[in-house]
Amino acid sequence: MEQYINQAVEQFRSILTEQIARERRMEQEKRTTDYAKLDKIIIGICGGDGIGPIISAESKRLLQFLLKEEIAAGKIELRTIEGLTIENRIAHNQAIPDDVLAEIKACNVILKAPTTTLKGGTLESANVAMRRELDLYANVRPVAVPELGIDWTFFRENTEGEYVLGSRGVEIPDTLAFDFKVTTNEGTRRIARAAFEYAKNNGKTNVAIVTKANIMKKTDGKFSELCHEVAKDYPGITAEDWYIDIMTANLVNERTRANFQVFVLPNLYGDIITDEAAQIQGGVGTAGSANIGDVYAMFEAIHGSAPRMIETGRGKFANPTSMFKATEMMLRHIGFTEKANQLDKALRICTVTEKSLVITGRDDGATCSEFGDYLMKTIENF
Ligand code: NAD
Repeated sequence: MEQYINQAVEQFRSILTEQIARERRMEQEKRTTDYAKLDKIIIGICGGDGIGPIISAESKRLLQFLLKEEIAAGKIELRTIEGLTIENRIAHNQAIPDDVLAEIKACNVILKAPTTTLKGGTLESANVAMRRELDLYANVRPVAVPELGIDWTFFRENTEGEYVLGSRGVEIPDTLAFDFKVTTNEGTRRIARAAFEYAKNNGKTNVAIVTKANIMKKTDGKFSELCHEVAKDYPGITAEDWYIDIMTANLVNERTRANFQVFVLPNLYGDIITDEAAQIQGGVGTAGSANIGDVYAMFEAIHGSAPRMIETGRGKFANPTSMFKATEMMLRHIGFTEKANQLDKALRICTVTEKSLVITGRDDGATCSEFGDYLMKTIENF
């Protein structure tokens, strides 16, 4: 037993040293991308696996349509990145092969289709690797149901909490297991600033800080305390503490939920509650997800690669809506607000109010490209 304890103490020492160094790096590296100042914005499109190439091709067609003039003028380049496939990742035994990562880093923003993650084995998820390599610390998910008065934006911390050391816990055989949860000062301040900046720039008046700081006193306690510290720089915005358990109930409480606007949360709570919120909006397929850092940003559908659709020959019936939502968020992020608004409006017409074509995922519904045509025609008719 003594030997296990000594090994665990040594492991904890090395984890501590590494995490302290990570926090220092965050504090020192202050590069940012100002899209308005770039001569050309390069949008990298990763096709991914399963239905990924089908829905991302549709998003590319949509971007070519929406940004026709900007592409012709050389202000936007759409660059297809081929190698982020499970076959290539297995062949290189790398979550993102080096040459693919270099291609990704040569772009300014990434539109990423779903990638397959193997169960078991040692190959890390491409998503987790990309969030780390590009330091995409804010996972931003908007959820809106106008008829219910719901207009929420979640800022989930994306690089720390329970996930940063998720595969590096300690186990004493037949006795116990420990995992680690990490909250750093700079890691918390930067997600808090992202949430409050968003609130300020979008006319929002309250930010809910969601933790379990009554129980996880150190990590969540720090998260809450630092969010309140950041809040002092935003005088018009109320910062309110909530516990994650009651907040999951609040989201389904029809009397109060419309009062919430912006949420900032540590990684695990954010992961769970954003799926709950997406379900309220109409299912996870209706939401897009943004992973934002200071230098790079990556936008993706929130569903997976649906391998069974490909195996059963239904790939062409894949629903591109979540990928289109991701495309909308990307357009907003790089400053094309008007085009993003058009896309948002068209998506609501095509999926809620008019619905002349319906995607079912099977041959009794429209195909992915028929739906793309319908959406673009709707925009043309504005
Ligand atoms: P999934 O989202 O791929 O599929 C769940 C169900 O939803 C399936 O029935 C599927 O057919 C359906 N579905 C998903 N997207 C659809 C679409 N656009 N149109 C119509 N139907 C759709 O989830 P899963 O089966 O748990 O995961 C499959 C693979 O995707 C796994 O390897 C998983 O790790 C990966 N995954 C990747 C991401 C990502 O890259 N962001 C996210 C989640 C899962």
